[in-house]
Amino acid sequence: MNEEHSSIHDFNFDLICEYYSAIDRQGPGSPEVTIKALSFIDNLHSESRIADIGCGTGGQTMVLAQNSPGIITGLDLFPAFIDLFNQNAQKFGLSHRVKGEIGSMESLPFEKESLDLIWSEGAIYNLGFERGLREWLPFIKTGGFIAVSEASWFTNERPAEINDFWVDAYPQIDTIPNKVRQLQESGYIPVANFILPENCWLDHYYAPQVKAQEDFLRKYKGNQTAEAFIENERREAQLYRRYKDFYGYVFYIGKKI
Ligand code: SAH
Repeated sequence: MNEEHSSIHDFNFDLICEYYSAIDRQGPGSPEVTIKALSFIDNLHSESRIADIGCGTGGQTMVLAQNSPGIITGLDLFPAFIDLFNQNAQKFGLSHRVKGEIGSMESLPFEKESLDLIWSEGAIYNLGFERGLREWLPFIKTGGFIAVSEASWFTNERPAEINDFWVDAYPQIDTIPNKVRQLQESGYIPVANFILPENCWLDHYYAPQVKAQEDFLRKYKGNQTAEAFIENERREAQLYRRYKDFYGYVFYIGKKI
């Protein structure tokens, strides 16, 4: 990559980080859904080790911490998100047991068989669902759990427009039964799965972006990269409104035996 390209890439990366830093969540979800997924996980105690992988600024991590005992490490590639994560932990009075660390989900900074629970909302797609499930398994203790949310098809067939959009964005999107089979074949008991309700997208993810987008466009008026980025975000939200019967996020909870 030549210098010109890498500087454009860095600029995009900074812009995207700045945009997502302005909102509490960087993916669809809600406190209710985090608590519901947690309800399928037992045996957590004050010494339990939990990792929230691709934690972003920690919206869901703080809910997790408020509703379960244990020591939680949030891991994310982007330093700006981890700074906000640690400020959040401080603000909620959780910093004695909730810490954000910069790191990659491709090489987890944990001991093998050390985690009671791996949590990851809207982030495992960065590795791909199956690769993430397989590569993270050795880090979980026997009897420990994994809980991840992942884009999934609700039907066997769907309109071409939304099919093409997702197959381009994330070719591993698949139906729920196929994802459950992948969970089982990766070495977990499929304990539970459930579809995230629409409010996780509309109220908790897209609604806060409306103001963030206005502020962002005002700040970067005339900047074509910023304008194209926002246009893309808006298109994605429109597609969701049009095709939400056909896809969404699903929480998959598995147990290692
Ligand atoms: N869990 C958060 C954020 C989801 S967005 C929420 O639900 O709101 C996906 C997150 O994965 C982003 O914060 C992004 O920075 C992070 N990410 C992307 N690639 C990563 C990698 N290789 N290692 C760790 N984190 C990564």
